[in-house]
Amino acid sequence: MILPALTDLDGVEDARVLTRLDLNVPVANGEVLDDTRIVAALPTLRWLGERASVIAACSHLGKAKGTPDPAYTLAPVAPVLADALGRPVRFVQDCLDPTIAAAEPGTLLLLENLRFHPGEKANDIDFAAKLTAPFTHFVNDAFGTAHRAHASVSASPRLYTSGKKAAGFLMEREVSALSRVVTDPEQPFVAVVGGAKISTKTAPLEALLDRVQTLLIGGGMANTFLKAQGREIGRSLVEDEMLSRARAVMEKAADRSIELLIPTDVVVADGLDNPSRVEIVPSELVPSDLMVVDLGPESRQRYTTALAGARTVFWNGPMGVFEIDAFAEGTLAIATAMAESSGFTVVGGGESVMAIRRAGVVDRIDHVSTGGGASLSFLTGDVLPALAALEE
Ligand code: ADP
Ligand code: MG
Repeated sequence: MILPALTDLDGVEDARVLTRLDLNVPVANGEVLDDTRIVAALPTLRWLGERASVIAACSHLGKAKGTPDPAYTLAPVAPVLADALGRPVRFVQDCLDPTIAAAEPGTLLLLENLRFHPGEKANDIDFAAKLTAPFTHFVNDAFGTAHRAHASVSASPRLYTSGKKAAGFLMEREVSALSRVVTDPEQPFVAVVGGAKISTKTAPLEALLDRVQTLLIGGGMANTFLKAQGREIGRSLVEDEMLSRARAVMEKAADRSIELLIPTDVVVADGLDNPSRVEIVPSELVPSDLMVVDLGPESRQRYTTALAGARTVFWNGPMGVFEIDAFAEGTLAIATAMAESSGFTVVGGGESVMAIRRAGVVDRIDHVSTGGGASLSFLTGDVLPALAALEE
């Protein structure tokens, strides 16, 4: 997939550019708790900052419901952005404020949360027309929302002709890294899929079966696979309505001679907070009063061995309840194995990326995706609305 590049924008020197960024950062008491997404947006802002006339940054934040809500204001992002860029940022309290059109050359604006207007989520064309009216050019660098057909990423770019719209550097990097995993990945391709539930990941799981040589299953979803094989899993998290889906994945893997690994041993506990019993058991011997919380040592070994020879690795979803140290070993083992891999390694997913950070190996992974849902959607082979709108 070739997206229109930032560096190919026509007439950027006099441009008034609207940039759609992913500034959906965690905020508490008016303070930004994690600036990862702000930092990720800087290369595009710096490049435009050295060239364009006026730049406005816009984003959503949190679960705003189509009306102004102080709990989800983007105001705390402005000083962090200003510090990071070393230039003033003017915060505008409404993304449709009429003063935006009068911004002087050299101004950098940060617009208030797009989702304070119902038109954003509704992909409303009138909202998009008002939002984009003051701007000659449009840049989308918000990979995290690329899978949503919202006005700022779908209707808005459609209002610009080619040459006047582009993907930002982050978007370009995401798409090129994920494309390497989707289109003709170098074999052996090993995918690791875990996390809480199989129901949120069936489409990407099935799409991966068209490409991988080996699939490693862990986390809560592995319980559904174990149960589908007729094992007792005690009080573990399980999705009974997904048993036939899990069986279908196993059958498809067998048909294609794909190696599908599910845990042969597991860590079990009597609870998550202050457990009084924590044991390692074979996965066919899970006590009825305990729950599976992590891979056991033998499974860790099998999974890391499978990863050792991979030329391409994609990982989504932790192998256990890694938020609790005692249940993090399986997840950290995958993180370490990926760091040590000489293949091309990609991690996507909110919690998986947190695990990569906790393991301290971010710099040793080829691509850490900023978009959880978007990366899974891309992996599934879906047409992402934001990308389609840029290409048109
Ligand atoms: P990601 O954000 O990486 O896509 P998910 O959101 O699908 O991952 O799942 C992450 C969550 O899954 C974590 O919070 C973790 O605690 C939970 N989880 C992993 N293994 C288990 C398990 N065996 N039982 C219950 N929850 C689990
Ligand atoms: Mg998650």
